[in-house]
Amino acid sequence: MTGQVSFDSHARSVLTASVEYVNRLTPGYSGGTPYSAPTDDPESVTSAVADALTAIGYPPASRPPLDDSRRLVQLAQRMRLVFEAADARDLDAAATEINALLRDTNARPQLDRGRDRPWSLHFHGPDEQLANGWAAGCAAGLALAVGSDLAGRLGVCAAPSCDRVFVDMSKNGQRRFCSPQCQSRVKAAAHRARQAG
Ligand SMILES: [Zn+2]
Repeated sequence: MTGQVSFDSHARSVLTASVEYVNRLTPGYSGGTPYSAPTDDPESVTSAVADALTAIGYPPASRPPLDDSRRLVQLAQRMRLVFEAADARDLDAAATEINALLRDTNARPQLDRGRDRPWSLHFHGPDEQLANGWAAGCAAGLALAVGSDLAGRLGVCAAPSCDRVFVDMSKNGQRRFCSPQCQSRVKAAAHRARQAG
């Protein structure tokens, strides 16, 4: 069985959501330039969260509440720790943080079905607040990855001046970069170095 088929569609979608939250809501570097996370400014926090929700296919009908958005930013910072620990092969640290996230978000598996849709496994209640519901799902998705042979699929970009994260869903499991842009940046630098050398 390959890694590609082992992620079911819900696990895939919560892992994709984790990546978007970490990459959009935590500071660091992105594609060679400094990346600033949304600050305490209410406008920047809620608009960053709205953008993240839109990116994962859940555009909010109205601006998300400020408290909820702030909590999601904090939880994204903790999800980043999981990616960094897994990338460093420190699975003990990754597991400790995931367990804390599962506890703090009160994640609990249950089957839900939308109208005309099949039953599927979710990790939060249907009436959960935005931040908590998503973070519970993300924590469960990360737990499924780290608790299986897919732990090595959580990564941090290997390109210089970039710390955006990714989940490697490729067949061969050799992904090292957050984006095609970072991959070609590194390729071009290696090419220049060869020519100069
Ligand atoms: Zn990158």
